[in-house]
Amino acid sequence: AKASGRNTYSFFTYKMNDMILRRLEIEGQLRGALERHEFEVYYQPKLDLKTGSVTGAEALLRWHNPALGQVGPDEFIPVAEHIGIIIPIGKYVLEQALSFLLEWRKAHQQQYAIAVNLSPLQFRDRAFASFVEESLVNANVRPECLEFEITEGVLMIGKSYVEEALSKLHKLGVKLSMDDFGTGYSSLSYLRQYAFDLLKIDRSFISGICEKKEDRDLVTAAIAMAHSLDLRVIAEGVETQEQLSLLADLGCDIAQGYYFSKPMPANEMMKFRYDKISE
Ligand code: C2E
Ligand code: CA
Ligand code: CA
Ligand code: CA
Repeated sequence: AKASGRNTYSFFTYKMNDMILRRLEIEGQLRGALERHEFEVYYQPKLDLKTGSVTGAEALLRWHNPALGQVGPDEFIPVAEHIGIIIPIGKYVLEQALSFLLEWRKAHQQQYAIAVNLSPLQFRDRAFASFVEESLVNANVRPECLEFEITEGVLMIGKSYVEEALSKLHKLGVKLSMDDFGTGYSSLSYLRQYAFDLLKIDRSFISGICEKKEDRDLVTAAIAMAHSLDLRVIAEGVETQEQLSLLADLGCDIAQGYYFSKPMPANEMMKFRYDKISE
C-alpha cells in the first residue's frame, strides 16, 4: 500500500502476497485434512504393450477441501512434506492402494500390480520397511504385486538412508521403479547402483517422440539400456495412438496415459476395461 505510486513494485508485492497467502491457507487446511477424510486415492491403468491387457495401476492422491476446492498433488505434497505430515498421508495412500488391489483382483481374477509414489521423507522413516511388510500381510497381498515409484529426489537424501531403505524393501520382494527418468542428472548412475526393476520414462520425452528426433533417440536409448539391465520400461503420459504405436515398435513394455484413461476413483477403475490395442 505504501508503494502505490510505483506500479511494478506493488504488482510484485501483491503477487507475492497472493502466493504466500495461498501457501498459508494450504498449510492450515492440510493439517486436519486426513482426519476430515478429504483425501481420495485415484488410479490410472497401466497396459502391457504386447498383450494389450491391463497390468496394474498407479495410485495418485487427490485432495478436495471445502475452502480451497480441488488442490493438485504437485502443489500440496511439497507442503505436506514441509509441515511434517507426509508420513501419515503416505501410510494412508499405501493402505488404500493395497485394499483396492485386493478388491480389484477378486473382481477380475487377475494378478494386477499397484504402484505407489514415495516421498523422500518416507525413506528417512526407519520404520517404513516394517510398516510396508505389516501392511502387505494385513492386506493379504504378495510383495511382488506392490511397486514403489521413486524419483531422484529420494536417492539424493543421503547414501546410507537410501541403501538401508532400498535394501530392506528389496529383501521384502516389492518392486522398485525409477520415476521421471530422463529429467535428472544422475539417474543413470543410480540405476547402476541400486536394484531397480522398472524404469519409467518421463512424460516430457513421450510427448515429443513423434515430432522430435532427439526425444525419440533418448527413448530408444533408454529402452535399450533398461533392457540390457533387465528392467521393464514404462512410458508415462501417452496421449495419442501415434505415440503408442511408436512406443510398441521401440520395444517399450508398458504404457500409461490419458490415451487409455485419466486417473479415476476406485469404483471406476474397478470397472475399467480396455480393448483398443487388440482392435
Ligand atoms: P508423477 O508420479 O510423475 O505422476 C504422473 C502425473 O502425470 C500425474 O499427475 C498424472 O495424473 C499425470 N498424467 C498421467 N498421464 C498423463 C497424460 O497422458 N497427460 C498428462 N498431461 N498428464 C498425465 P498428478 O496426479 O497430478 O500427480 C502429480 C505428482 O504428484 C506425481 O507425479 C507425484 O510426483 C505426486 N504424487 C501424486 N500422488 C502422490 C502420492 O500419493 N504420494 C507422493 N509422495 N506423491 C504423489
Ligand atoms: Ca509416479
Ligand atoms: Ca513424471
Ligand atoms: Ca513427478
